[in-house]
Amino acid sequence: MCGIVGYVGPRPAPELLISSLQRLEYRGYDSAGIAVPDGGGLAVLKSPGKVRTLGDRVRSEWAPALREGARAGIAHTRWATHGPPTQANAHPHCDQSGRIALVHNGIIENYADIRRQLEAQGHTFASQTDSEVLCHLVGEYYRDGDLLQAVCAAMRHAEGTLGIAVLCADRPDQLIIARRGSPIVIGIGDDETVVASDAAAIVAHTNRVIYLNDDDVAVVTAGSVEVRTAQNVPVSREVAKLEWDSEAAEKGGFAHFMLKEIFEQPDAIRNSTRGRLDEGAGTAKLGGLAMAPREIAEIGRMVMVACGTSMHAGLVGRFLFEDLADLPADVEQAAEFRYRNPILSPRDLVLAISQSGETADTLAAVREAKQKGAVIAGLCNVVGSTIARETGRGVYLHAGPEIGVASTKAFTCQVSVLLMMALKFGRCRRLSRDRGVEICRAIAALPDAAARVLEQNDAIAKIAAKYAAIRDIFYIGRGTMYPVALEGALKLKEISYIHAEGYHAAELKHGPIAMLEPVVPVLAIATDTPGREKMVGNIQECRARHSPVIAVVSGDDRQFDDMAADVIRVPACPALTAPIPVAIALQLFAYHVARLKGCEIDQPRNLAKSVTVE
Ligand code: GLU
Repeated sequence: MCGIVGYVGPRPAPELLISSLQRLEYRGYDSAGIAVPDGGGLAVLKSPGKVRTLGDRVRSEWAPALREGARAGIAHTRWATHGPPTQANAHPHCDQSGRIALVHNGIIENYADIRRQLEAQGHTFASQTDSEVLCHLVGEYYRDGDLLQAVCAAMRHAEGTLGIAVLCADRPDQLIIARRGSPIVIGIGDDETVVASDAAAIVAHTNRVIYLNDDDVAVVTAGSVEVRTAQNVPVSREVAKLEWDSEAAEKGGFAHFMLKEIFEQPDAIRNSTRGRLDEGAGTAKLGGLAMAPREIAEIGRMVMVACGTSMHAGLVGRFLFEDLADLPADVEQAAEFRYRNPILSPRDLVLAISQSGETADTLAAVREAKQKGAVIAGLCNVVGSTIARETGRGVYLHAGPEIGVASTKAFTCQVSVLLMMALKFGRCRRLSRDRGVEICRAIAALPDAAARVLEQNDAIAKIAAKYAAIRDIFYIGRGTMYPVALEGALKLKEISYIHAEGYHAAELKHGPIAMLEPVVPVLAIATDTPGREKMVGNIQECRARHSPVIAVVSGDDRQFDDMAADVIRVPACPALTAPIPVAIALQLFAYHVARLKGCEIDQPRNLAKSVTVE
């Protein structure tokens, strides 16, 4: 999910690798590491925290002969998915012999099985990562000195996503590179080759690149790149010209982190759901919850504690748990939780939702719930974060690092994970297999639905341009679209400073309707989901007050064309998954309004990414 760089050529590799890693820092990461050939063996250095720290350590701990003399190497910025961000878990990882080092981006789904098999064969592991298991697997297949063959075999054995760079002490002049579902670019310079997970680290060196396809494996030396399939059959990949300049390379070519993260959502949702859906059994596999079906069946109530965007995800989750799992579900504003006297029983499952896993109020709520004897679990994005550790069980989002202060991909991944949890809980209770299969399919279709909303980017930007000068706006919705309306309004407030309020569509008449006038638009979510018919009436009420209506509708629904000033179209989805495409459309709307207003989108005034004070 984060960064890989590799180098073979005439220049001193350590310094070049560190400076290239720095170009990938914008992606966010939690630890970094480097490996280079060293006198017939390998030198490996890794540390939690910043690339700068790693660079300082390279300069102070590696002898000048190594710093100046190493002519190849691999380096990595890690964003933890398996095991907290410690030195041991940082990459590169070595195989059992210590002669092969590997850096990996992605997730190996069957790592637990492979690890068990390798342990039975005498392998010992130094980390909790899936990546170290992959490296040992390469080592296991590396018998007759053919590293390419070993990587191909490991590729065929490993399931999941991977971008890897492998260095072997026996061949200090070459790297083996491979990918599946995680990007890798090979930059071809003058008698040198620079490899990276992201063109941002390549542009400074060359603009001639080879993009690997899924399941490609490449042998890279200073003067050659030889590509094969994972079946070890040679293929040719053309050399393309990188159109980026160094400046565009920042943020992966996007103008803002927020936009980059909005566009990452198809992949983020894919990563969140990958390996977790069991379509045959119509359920989800969420090992981190560590709850047997019987324990799940015995839960009496769900209590979700969260703040801000995470609370909105919880409000969507409430519908999902009630609908799929027959479970009473409450959402509590975490800041209030411990100051009231919450009534909890050992049959209550308190689920703490926090992207960072460090939200102070949510953490305090966890401690209160623990005190009162409830079962607790966490739903966090950051592996090894305080809430993840204190709850001891839960589900990681695997959404990748979120840098933009306004949360986007974390929200849609939270909803995806809540949906998988509700599905799993339902299947341990009363949900039929057939319905479970249907839901698995709907979840599997989400990345594609997200991609189709992104195709609307230009259309949404045009609509946003008409509203960039407004001072107030209401967002309304019903059912699961009510929390989506709250979230849409929050996004706009956070980054554009426009006064935006989310309301249940029926609440409008209980007061806020007094505010409506021609300069106060209403964004109405009128997708083909429960409550749609009533939205027709609510939209008419707004029109009668001369408020321009922006209707968000499913597919090519034409019913609102005459009623609405503007129509945003999202792909039609089953009701349970529909909040995700709608939320993405509203993120784009907020983004473009803020951009047109010239706001500081990635660092909105007064806001912090993770709120670690009460
Ligand atoms: N799954 C790997 C780990 O937890 C790789 C994470 C990454 O892509 O940075 O170490």
